[in-house]
Amino acid sequence: MGRTVIYPGSFDPLTNGHLDIVQRAARLFDRVIVAVAPSEGKGPLFDLEERVSLIRRAVMTMPNVEVDSFTGLLMDYVEKQNGHAVIRGLRAVSDFEFEFQLALMNRKLNPRVETIFMMPKEAYTFVSSRLVKEIATLGGDVGPFVPAHVKAALTRKLRQRRRRA
Ligand code: ADP
Repeated sequence: MGRTVIYPGSFDPLTNGHLDIVQRAARLFDRVIVAVAPSEGKGPLFDLEERVSLIRRAVMTMPNVEVDSFTGLLMDYVEKQNGHAVIRGLRAVSDFEFEFQLALMNRKLNPRVETIFMMPKEAYTFVSSRLVKEIATLGGDVGPFVPAHVKAALTRKLRQRRRRA
């Protein structure tokens, strides 16, 4: 069995920045598991199953990438999957403080698991799920920031929301 890395996050929804990190991780590790957290506290736009299926569609052509969801402690999930490390993306210095805290806390919880930080391609350093949702809500074009099927899903979801409102 080779080396397994877990890439956790809310992915609400997946962006090209996330995808860039997945591609980099897939070149370094034998097996990459993109693990979607429910993140109910963040009031996600897409439900867990929708987020998982949007990622599955994006990684279909990557043979060593799997998509799953998890609840509870990330470090317990990493153990369950026999993971060796966790990947987190770093976009800017602003990400650093929280990510540093999180990584050290996770190390306390499980010293065997390393956290590895990866930087996306420069063009994606300003892309976040939150901004993508905001731009889409205001009628802007999110085409450059997300895969085409995610853009379509955003359009559908926001239309549904408007109809309900
Ligand atoms: P979380 O709720 O865990 O922050 P996100 O889906 O927002 O979940 O992000 C998951 C991971 O991907 C985090 O490590 C985040 O820093 C990273 N990430 C988010 N957007 C980008 C991007 N554009 N480039 C690189 N990494 C990113």
